[in-house]
Amino acid sequence: MPAAPTIGVLAVQGDVREHVAVLTDLGMGVVPVRRPEEVERIDALVVPGGESTVMDKLVRAFELEEPLRRRLAEGMPAYGSCAGMILLADRLLDARPDQHTLGGLDITVRRNAFGRQVDSFEEDLDFAGLEAPVHAVFIRAPWVEEVGDGVEVLARVASGEAAGRIVAVRQGPVMATSFHPEVGGDHRVHAEFVRIVSSRA
Ligand code: GLN
Repeated sequence: MPAAPTIGVLAVQGDVREHVAVLTDLGMGVVPVRRPEEVERIDALVVPGGESTVMDKLVRAFELEEPLRRRLAEGMPAYGSCAGMILLADRLLDARPDQHTLGGLDITVRRNAFGRQVDSFEEDLDFAGLEAPVHAVFIRAPWVEEVGDGVEVLARVASGEAAGRIVAVRQGPVMATSFHPEVGGDHRVHAEFVRIVSSRA
């Protein structure tokens, strides 16, 4: 049997441990990515939740920006949750003036989109391809304001003022969610990503 694909988790800031734990539970080989050499060794990338402005600064300081952008442009599978979605977006709204992204997803993402009144909340969402709803935890989350032609919408907010807002997308081998499936014990969103990675390996 061929070796299982190795999934890198960008490990400069954010909830790295939670993603490593879920992927390990799913039987994946996981490596934390902090150095350019590590970028060359991985078959796929997970970008955790955290603070996208800090992650962007550290990615540039650790000279990860060029290799990560290149691997993503070459079609490496990737999954980003929350700040990770921000880093994988081609375009940002309400970004810091000098904020970069890695890109990969033809989407426009608005940072901190749900506003300060309700900046954290939880909701059960229908998620394309999954039978039962996903319990989604949103923490100062972004939403997807616009998607390009090749982007599939996987989930939208179900109720409240933000009803209908896009909170999960996929474009080829790249997935992103506004929420944090790495907390709460439901591994099905990561399992979807693992399926994508395995089918490409
Ligand atoms: N608000 C954060 C940002 O802009 C994202 C929050 C999160 O990842 N929970 O990066």
